[in-house]
Amino acid sequence: LWSTISERFREHVGEAAWKTWFISITPVTITADEVVLATPSPLAKERLETKYREVLGALFSQTLGHPVPVRIQVRANERSSLSIDALTTPGVHSQGALEADLFGQPPSRPNNAKARLSTTFDARYTFEAFVIGSSNRFAHAASLAVAETPAASYNPLFIHGGAGLGKTHLLHAIGNYVRQNYRDKYVKYVSTETFLNEFVDAIQRNKTSEFKARYRECDVLLVDDIQFLQNKEAIQEEFFHTFNYLYGAQKQIVLTSDRSPKAIATLEGRLRSRFAMGLITDVQPPDLETRSAILQRKAEDSGFILDASVIELIATNITDNIRELEGALTRLSAYSSLNGVPVTLDLAQMVLSDLITSSQRLQVRDPREIITVTATFFNTTPTELLGQSRKRPIAMARQIAMYIMRELTELSYPEIGREFGGRDHTTVIHAVQKVQNVMQSSIETFEQVDQLFKLLRDPSKQGG
Ligand code: ADP
Ligand code: MG
Repeated sequence: LWSTISERFREHVGEAAWKTWFISITPVTITADEVVLATPSPLAKERLETKYREVLGALFSQTLGHPVPVRIQVRANERSSLSIDALTTPGVHSQGALEADLFGQPPSRPNNAKARLSTTFDARYTFEAFVIGSSNRFAHAASLAVAETPAASYNPLFIHGGAGLGKTHLLHAIGNYVRQNYRDKYVKYVSTETFLNEFVDAIQRNKTSEFKARYRECDVLLVDDIQFLQNKEAIQEEFFHTFNYLYGAQKQIVLTSDRSPKAIATLEGRLRSRFAMGLITDVQPPDLETRSAILQRKAEDSGFILDASVIELIATNITDNIRELEGALTRLSAYSSLNGVPVTLDLAQMVLSDLITSSQRLQVRDPREIITVTATFFNTTPTELLGQSRKRPIAMARQIAMYIMRELTELSYPEIGREFGGRDHTTVIHAVQKVQNVMQSSIETFEQVDQLFKLLRDPSKQGG
């Protein structure tokens, strides 16, 4: 009887599925009113139940001449020869030890698994806080679908796009959502770097099976920045197994990368094709409208009132990174509360001058004029300003002049160095950074720079 069933199953589902799922099944009970079969692993059990239960039921009913319930159980303590590759790629041969381990010994799930697995998701990164625009609408929709019905919509979901465009935000949003709505699901976030480090650490401490178990217990695994798998064969191998295990067990996987799977050099072909099994989507730099909406939203969230002109200034100048948009806002609000001054367009221009692109910069000035005006302002002479004195007021005046030159001219760092008596460009970079920092914490410096900008912008004031 068993061999008849086996043969028919083979005819019905094909060689690959038969080899993968059927060959290692052993019949435990076959009676007129019950069939019990044993599989070598929970994964095989789950697979048979979800995909092949009906086929099996039909075959047994036909053969026995009446309907009979089929029950599948996991065989205790046994290793199997099932190949994970047959799961998706018939013909690719087994990976050896790792694999036997993977299938033969289901990861143990201790009672404290929940606690151990918990990832703390950033409470600010939710779907509600995510501003939707044409640049990210699809990635948002796909992420939400995945969060609402893990493993039932897009699996794996692969999101790629440049830095600061919301990929990590979306992963956390999925995590937060699943955590809230599916108490019993294990959802884990990991950066590829952490995954890598934990793996290396596990190898060194001979704890690879614990490492494996930790990841294979996930119902939803969120892996950030997988471009770091590039050039790392061993970890790609490990990741491949984890991926296959979870995918085979119908668990949700979401991946992000700063580039498309195709563009990740040295990504193994089989990983690349795994990623393509689900949905690949991207996040693009936001358009002006979305950038403005994000600024508006973030300002409101932190109880900060921004004039439309200030929003426009920031949104037109910072165009391809949402993290920088936020950074601008943070600097502005910090400056405003530190100094107790309202945010005006002028202030925004001043505080954010380094972020504002050259086309929007204040009028380009003659470098020598900057030196003369700054020297006069600080009660010194151009000769001293350009000289070697390290005395504090003069050194500071010199740094401020360098900063202003950087802001008000198109000169490069080395060129500015030359204007200052042949100084090295690193000296200029240091000066610019220093003035930027000091302006954040010292009202005095901020006002000095502010006045100098005004003087240089409106030469009629220079006389006084
Ligand atoms: P990535 O991972 O793509 O480099 P992040 O997810 O870290 O980018 O996003 C950078 C910052 O921008 C985060 O603080 C995030 O909250 C914010 N951000 C990105 N996209 C949006 C959006 N559509 N709406 C609101 N905030 C966003
Ligand atoms: Mg990120």
